[in-house]
Amino acid sequence: MKQLLILSGKGGTGKTTVASAFIKLSQARAYADCDVDAPNLHLVMQNLPVLDRTDYYGLPKAQIYTDQCIECDLCRQHCRFEAIHVNGTYQVDPFACEGCGVCAAVCPVRAIELKPATAGELMLYGDDRSVFSTAQLKMGSGTSGLLVTEVKKRLMAAAPSAELAIIDGSPGIGCPVIASISGVDLVLIVAEPSLSGISDLDRIVLTAAKFQTPVAVCINKADTNEGNAALIESFCEERGIPFTGRIPFDPMAVQAINTGRTIVDLDCPAGDAVREVFSKTLIQLGKGKSLTILSKKE
Ligand code: SF4
Ligand code: SF4
Repeated sequence: MKQLLILSGKGGTGKTTVASAFIKLSQARAYADCDVDAPNLHLVMQNLPVLDRTDYYGLPKAQIYTDQCIECDLCRQHCRFEAIHVNGTYQVDPFACEGCGVCAAVCPVRAIELKPATAGELMLYGDDRSVFSTAQLKMGSGTSGLLVTEVKKRLMAAAPSAELAIIDGSPGIGCPVIASISGVDLVLIVAEPSLSGISDLDRIVLTAAKFQTPVAVCINKADTNEGNAALIESFCEERGIPFTGRIPFDPMAVQAINTGRTIVDLDCPAGDAVREVFSKTLIQLGKGKSLTILSKKE
């Protein structure tokens, strides 16, 4: 299975717009939303029945049994995350607790236990043709990288014979992005033509380079700043990064997403441009190995 990951430097760049268009164009049998903090691919890719919903347990949380506590204060002094407070009794702030277990280890009377805590929910949708894996992290849970890994694992397990998996990543370069890059064949970066967009692009390229993962770049809303779009193209040329095209700003694109459709469901300039970006991206993805979907397009 070839894995294509779509990333952007920040939210609102059009990453999901591009990912959903690619899923439609390729008729992908396997796709995932790894933006577990704010998943929204399901808004466009609806209609698949639920196969499975599972609670996700991230890091455990400490729990203090106040009836056993002798108020020695050792746990509070040793918690480097400042997650233990005294409010009449000793209490753990579950949002600050990282589940390291130090408090339980130092407690002289065994009044502390680490308990599994739900950090989110994993969802798998599918029918006899395609599988969609996604998840939602609970607010305040800091285990997004682990959850992303789980989303991908479930996708691969549910669709082992799919030729292509399209993964909508999360914005930025944090933990979930690093988890989503692992094992993919190509990262398509959706850049925006702004100075911050160029700096974001640079950071994602460096992150992907650390994993020796090939990247390609396209620009969304490219005509909103032609000068910066040209700078992005030069950036790619100088570094030998394949450039897969420009998608214009298109009010129809917003309309499509708001009505649960992809930009290739409408006859619009953004839809036309993304088809071109798609075929160039497939060529990069197929380099070195055969990809049936690619030969079908040729
Ligand atoms: S498990 Fe670690 S982070 Fe959580 S309260 Fe105990 S010492 Fe602090
Ligand atoms: S270390 Fe144990 S006994 Fe001491 S304050 Fe914390 S919970 Fe209470």
